[in-house]
Amino acid sequence: MNSFSDLGLAAPILRALSEERYEQPTPIQSQTVPYALAHRDVIGIAQTGTGKTAAFALPILHRLANQPRTPERKSPRVLVLSPTRELSSQILDSFRTYGRHLKTSVTLAIGGVPMGRQVRALIGGVDILVATPGRLLDLVQGNALRLDRIEILVLDEADRMLDMGFIRDIRKIVAKLPKQRQTLFFSATMAPEVEALARDMLNDPARVAVTPAATTAERIAQRVMHVERAGKPTLLAEILRGEPIDRALVFTRTKHGADKVVRQLGKSGLAAEAIHGNKSQNQRERALAAFRDGRVRTLVATDIAARGIDVEGVTHVINYDLPNIPESYVHRIGRTARAGAEGVAISFCDAEERAYLRAIERLIGLAIPATGGPAGGERLAQATAQRPKGQPRAGRHSAAARGQNGARSGGKHKARQDRAPQDRAPQDRPSRDRARQDRGRKNSYNGTIASVGFLQS
Ligand code: AMP
Repeated sequence: MNSFSDLGLAAPILRALSEERYEQPTPIQSQTVPYALAHRDVIGIAQTGTGKTAAFALPILHRLANQPRTPERKSPRVLVLSPTRELSSQILDSFRTYGRHLKTSVTLAIGGVPMGRQVRALIGGVDILVATPGRLLDLVQGNALRLDRIEILVLDEADRMLDMGFIRDIRKIVAKLPKQRQTLFFSATMAPEVEALARDMLNDPARVAVTPAATTAERIAQRVMHVERAGKPTLLAEILRGEPIDRALVFTRTKHGADKVVRQLGKSGLAAEAIHGNKSQNQRERALAAFRDGRVRTLVATDIAARGIDVEGVTHVINYDLPNIPESYVHRIGRTARAGAEGVAISFCDAEERAYLRAIERLIGLAIPATGGPAGGERLAQATAQRPKGQPRAGRHSAAARGQNGARSGGKHKARQDRAPQDRAPQDRPSRDRARQDRGRKNSYNGTIASVGFLQS
């Protein structure tokens, strides 16, 4: 499917997409939307950055537009569960954007803010509720919300929900939903416990998968800088001063580390904000807004805090600390080069982090080129000026860049479809047993594995 109209979406939705200058569906969208429109359950294996939000939001809006009903008090028709407040707010914004020419109503139920408004919205009746699990259960217990009329359930970032300990809440919520419903289940990875949850929740699901790494890796200039631990603050300040940076996302391994980097940058006269789990909702929102608006150029984050954040125009990802989980590297660098733009990913590596670096290189199947240390500013400038092969610098987030992204990645994912499981990136690579199970499952899913994306090797 090369266009949104091929997908058969309602005209008001197509209009909104064209206003957003979305020219083509991304691979996860062209694979998911037809199943979702056919009322099938879907397992979508995709990370943030692949366009997965629209992959579920568009068919849901289409269905509500075609079967309109006056919303009932306290009884939404669609429930979207997401692990964090930030991600939930972004999902809400997406529904509002794509549904702006429809009468569909959508509301948010997240913790950290008073319940009154959420209760009033639910009592007034809404079509779509986007929620985090804890607040959702509070609303059910407070008799402001009923879940027995839900027609469609979306579980977004299921793996992260489990990481964050939401499994009991999710099971409690699912037990309150009608058995007859459509379920769209999204996860960046399919660890056995995620697979088990999917098995319990879904009915004969179609399985679709992409990873953004194949689409982004080639547009990201990746570099590693070997540096002593004590030299990292100076090196970071030099890079932030010397590079043409619009927005830099700096990753540390710990919350404490993030605060320390912000303090050190402050001493060098560089403004930065930190975002991590110890910050209040208000602080996190303020920091994110300042970063989005360009008032603060540097955001320092931990992995958990950053994973669901969708900020366009991040030109640089800087791994101040290398992650000890190699998959996190892929998630981190995927924050840049969004929607067809290009990006730079610079990783600091001290002596103790060499093993992490090797694990990352094994995962991405690529030796990350090393570039100069503190005295190597020039070489760094050269290195980051080298755009990934064959990629003219496209206007960031231009319609052309977006369209190009969709077309390019579609082809790539198709071409890589029939690779052997051992060629897969480890984040998708099942153990041997899992590979065998997967092959077996392929049959039981009866050909509905639409495509599997792989990391560039
Ligand atoms: P997501 O993976 O849902 O977080 O989406 C990542 C980003 O891609 C968001 O900023 C979307 O607005 C953007 N996006 C989603 N679908 C498309 C598309 N088909 N064309 C261009 N941009 C898109």
